[in-house]
Formats: sequence, structure tokens, C-alpha cells
Amino acid sequence: MPIYEFECDKCGRLTSVLTMRVGERADAKCRHCGSAAMRRVLSRFAMPKSEEARLDALADPSRLGDLDENDPKSIARMMRKMGREMGEEFAGDDFNEAIDEMEATGDFDGDGSDDSDSDDL
Ligand SMILES: [Zn+2]
Repeated sequence: MPIYEFECDKCGRLTSVLTMRVGERADAKCRHCGSAAMRRVLSRFAMPKSEEARLDALADPSRLGDLDENDPKSIARMMRKMGREMGEEFAGDDFNEAIDEMEATGDFDGDGSDDSDSDDL
């Protein structure tokens, strides 16, 4: 149930209005002086992080501190971590299978080809 907060234009005090439905136009009236000249203010309650903010957090370099981009296992580990953050919708079975394969074969491209020049081990 959303709570809207209104600031009174007359006395400047806040009035909270509880609405039963989202999008319902709250009929705000100042609790303190009765004025109807109310201005909607942002709720002080914490909003859930937006998808964009989550992606920003994921891209934070400090979180990838131990990533070795030349090591498929390291990348696989990082992607698993990301997958957990993104949830099932983003990181379904296909996602996990791809990581498993990458980790097992050490091949990023997934086509099995070896185009590196350091295969003389
Ligand atoms: Zn007022």
C-alpha cells in the first residue's frame, strides 16, 4: 500500500496519505491547518534499486578485483557471481551450461578452435 507524502503550501508541514490503490489520486488535505494547497513530495522510504543501478553495481571494478581475463576459470567464476545477482530470469540453465562448458574446455568462443599461438605445451 503506497504512502504519499504531501507538503502543505501554507504551513509547510508534511501530511502522509495512505492510498488503497496505486495510481489513485490521493485527496490530500493538510492535517495541521486544513489547507488543500498540497504539494506532493518524494517518499522518504527507500526505493528498490533500479535495474540500471544493479548493473552499475555489477560493473564496479572493485568487485572484479580477482578477475584474470586470460583465465577462463576466473571469468567463469565471475560470471557465476553475476548470474546469481541477476537471478533466474537472466541466468537460466543455458547461461549456467555455457559457463560450465567454458570452465571445462577453457574456450571462450565455444567453437573448440584454438587460435592461440601458445599451444606448444
Ligand atoms: Zn498546512
